[in-house]
Amino acid sequence: MERRINGHTRLYALIGSPVGHSGSPAMYNYSFQKLGIDCAYLAFDVPLEKTADAVQALRTLHAGGFNVTMPCKTAVAGLVDRLSPAAELVGACNTVVVEEDGSLTGHITDGIGFVRNLREHGVEVKGSRIVLIGTGGAATAIAVQAALDHAAEIAIFNRRDEFFANGEKTVEKIRRAVPEVKVTISDLEDEDVLAEVTGRSDILINATRAGMSPMENTMPVPESILRPELAVADVVYNPRETLLIRKAKEKGCRAAVGGIGMLLWQGAAAFELFTGQEMPAQEVMENFFS
Ligand code: NAD
Repeated sequence: MERRINGHTRLYALIGSPVGHSGSPAMYNYSFQKLGIDCAYLAFDVPLEKTADAVQALRTLHAGGFNVTMPCKTAVAGLVDRLSPAAELVGACNTVVVEEDGSLTGHITDGIGFVRNLREHGVEVKGSRIVLIGTGGAATAIAVQAALDHAAEIAIFNRRDEFFANGEKTVEKIRRAVPEVKVTISDLEDEDVLAEVTGRSDILINATRAGMSPMENTMPVPESILRPELAVADVVYNPRETLLIRKAKEKGCRAAVGGIGMLLWQGAAAFELFTGQEMPAQEVMENFFS
């Protein structure tokens, strides 16, 4: 690495807090090196109240771009010069590209990564009827991307907790921006509605924390609604195989897709926005995510 860095090396960065655990520096630096791209990637711990300072600093330093994690994702969306259609709808961004003229374009690649991961497992969003559990950050990005990618129907379910209102807002935004997609929101506790809608759907997605360590024994939906015609996907990647994914495999669901691929492909999408090149995704997966 030290021999690679020189006076021309361009900086890429991750901002947010905490960032010490992040796999992004390893993933991007490995890919830069592998492809012979003269760039380096560092993580900077930035609390919410310092977001504007950090963005200004990265502009001043002529960074090539940066990724954004919590708690800065929403604040950064208000600080860039323009937003991609998905980032505009979500109201947050996780990837910022510094353009030739120094202006900043904000993107959100979580939904792109999720859809790409599904495709890698033979599942297409276009024309599909989707049941999406969750109305938090990951779920919002997925709902918006699925709508922009022309899903036929998106039926959102969530507990009536503090995240439910966010789901109602997402439904309104999608209805305005992509009116041809049928999008609804219901209470996750209403198991009859959940079973009925899932019974005529193609894809079931868990985008909640249910199943995530230390809730490994939790399923977001009753096992009884799983059936072989359904593709099942989870955003949770800790543990690698959630209870939902294990049950989907046992029931013979046509696909059972864990969350780690979403993490890989959202990074690959950002890498492509940064460099115009494809990340060596297979090698990154083997070296850093298995
Ligand atoms: P968030 O805090 O924004 O939203 C949490 C969601 O989980 C809400 O919808 C909430 O109602 C729901 N929830 C929490 N506990 C629940 C329970 N016991 N039963 C049912 N619903 C419950 O969180 P987020 O940022 O959207 O993250 C959600 C999950 O997605 C986390 O496990 C996170 O690690 C994962 N994630 C994965 C990727 C990836 O690349 N694979 C990316 C982002 C987030």
